[in-house]
Amino acid sequence: MVSTWLSTTLYDIAARYDHDRHALLQMLREVQAARSCVPEEAIQFFARHLNVPIVQVRGCVEFYSFLHATPRGQYDIYFSDSPTDRMAGGLAAAERLAALLGVEFGEPRSDGRVTVALTSCTGHCEQAPAGLVNRRVFTSMTEAKVGQMADLVERGVPVEQWPEEWFRIADSIRVSGPTLDTHVHPGDALRAALARGLPQTLDEVEASGLQGRGGAGFPVGRKWRGAYETRGIHYITCNADEGEPGTFKDRILLAGYANELFEGMTIAGLLVGAEKGYVYMRGEYEYMLPGLIDVLVARRDAGLLGEDVCGTGQRFDIAIHLGAGAYVCGEQSALLESLEGRRGIPRVRPPSAVKKGLLGQSTINNNVESFVQAAQIALNGGAWFAGLGEEKSRGTKLLSVAGDCSRPGIYELPLGTTVRELLELCGASHAKAVQIGGAAGRTVGRPEFDRHISYADLATGGSVMVFDERRDMVDLARQFAHFFAHESCGFCAPCRVGTQMLQHYADKLAAGQGSRHDLEQIRRIGQLVKGYAHCGLGETAPNALLDTLERFPEEYEAHLLEAADFVPEFDVDAAVSEARTITGRQDHLHPIHYPAPRIEP
Ligand code: SF4
Repeated sequence: MVSTWLSTTLYDIAARYDHDRHALLQMLREVQAARSCVPEEAIQFFARHLNVPIVQVRGCVEFYSFLHATPRGQYDIYFSDSPTDRMAGGLAAAERLAALLGVEFGEPRSDGRVTVALTSCTGHCEQAPAGLVNRRVFTSMTEAKVGQMADLVERGVPVEQWPEEWFRIADSIRVSGPTLDTHVHPGDALRAALARGLPQTLDEVEASGLQGRGGAGFPVGRKWRGAYETRGIHYITCNADEGEPGTFKDRILLAGYANELFEGMTIAGLLVGAEKGYVYMRGEYEYMLPGLIDVLVARRDAGLLGEDVCGTGQRFDIAIHLGAGAYVCGEQSALLESLEGRRGIPRVRPPSAVKKGLLGQSTINNNVESFVQAAQIALNGGAWFAGLGEEKSRGTKLLSVAGDCSRPGIYELPLGTTVRELLELCGASHAKAVQIGGAAGRTVGRPEFDRHISYADLATGGSVMVFDERRDMVDLARQFAHFFAHESCGFCAPCRVGTQMLQHYADKLAAGQGSRHDLEQIRRIGQLVKGYAHCGLGETAPNALLDTLERFPEEYEAHLLEAADFVPEFDVDAAVSEARTITGRQDHLHPIHYPAPRIEP
């Protein structure tokens, strides 16, 4: 039975989204914010009111980390738990706060006052330890601040009255280049594209050589061309869900370059005849929402969005949707599922999103940096951009650098810059390993520091994590194994089971209980997961373990048991022979032979 008060509140929330069932996740986020949970009554209301299966609503509540079926504490505190946060003392700070407040991680205190929990990277690694309190981002936590925080919680001081400097977020730009140095005046890129002609602007985007800045590097122009040549309804979606541990460069663009982002989306929208665009922004960046909405309002007022964009007679507008804590939603098709109000389960591909994307229609999906650079290309021409970078990787790339360096932050550098050059710039003179591309990326050691950061060599969506001699590579790989076991959406068995198994072996090794047989198991299972996983998350989940195993074998050797050559033997036939005799079933077990997996060269 839903109370009148609650049903009125829920109705108002649904009305704010035009009762559109595809906005279910946004509605659930609002309920979570208002009630500190999504109660069963709300689940039933939305199922009935939006005419969606109740399992879909309940599935969303269970799937997204920031939605909860039972109430959180009055103070809901999350500590960011990426490796770089841990290196800066994040885990120790979280443990100390939990101890001071007398709570278990993730469990509300019995008086309902507070919850302290760990969450995956919140995107503020250069100002670690970072976290969220009642959805507000705090940075640079210290032991002294933790003591103060516990006191503020016990005294019931509202978060709005906590020290303002705790919530200060620096832009952290260390080296800027053409992207960061150029602020496009609202409308200038759009008007330049229209004056040149939209098909001719598409030619420029193709000529620029711009590749998707999310890391995969698919040519932006080719994607736009595919949508341009596809008939029917179109959508534009922007992936602003950068959840890769160590990545925070889209944060800087969303905070300071929203006009450029919306300009790029609008050009793409007018080109293919789309009427609607969506920015899917990670929930941790919610604090930027009011500023982004202000920019959208100003653009509507200036005729750059709305019913008649720039006097073209074409309609195009943009809405912003927030994620709710699911790393897999950074995968394009999972993001589209989430935008449609479902769990972020990656779709079967083909067809690509360009053929069948949002709501089954042709969709251009690019990330924030790609749209910003596309707008600048529309203004300055393709040749300008193609003149930057190297032959097979054109332009500049924003890199977010964190970890063991004296100058963490944002570096805009030409693609083709070597790892060594970047390390010199960021003050990482004692680096022994660098992870390029985050948890899903590649880890390289000193002998490879002359490799290039580019699509042709070490590709990255932006994350660069630096580790010096103090760091235990086995433990770091263990942290990444935990990350993937937690973030796997569970849809396909190779990833669901394989990431759990890899986590188990990584724990065993880090605890000094592993043997060489376990190392072999990691290699074997890692290749199986890479070869058979349904989406990019699974395909990349074993990377950190496999790379560190290959490049730092001596560190793994140092963790092995004394009896390192111990090989566990277990005769299944002998073990079940008695049971077989009793039940009269004499079939012998046969080994299972799997077909050879697809393995990366
Ligand atoms: Fe989900 Fe992992 Fe399979 Fe991707 S690979 S669909 S994340 S279980």
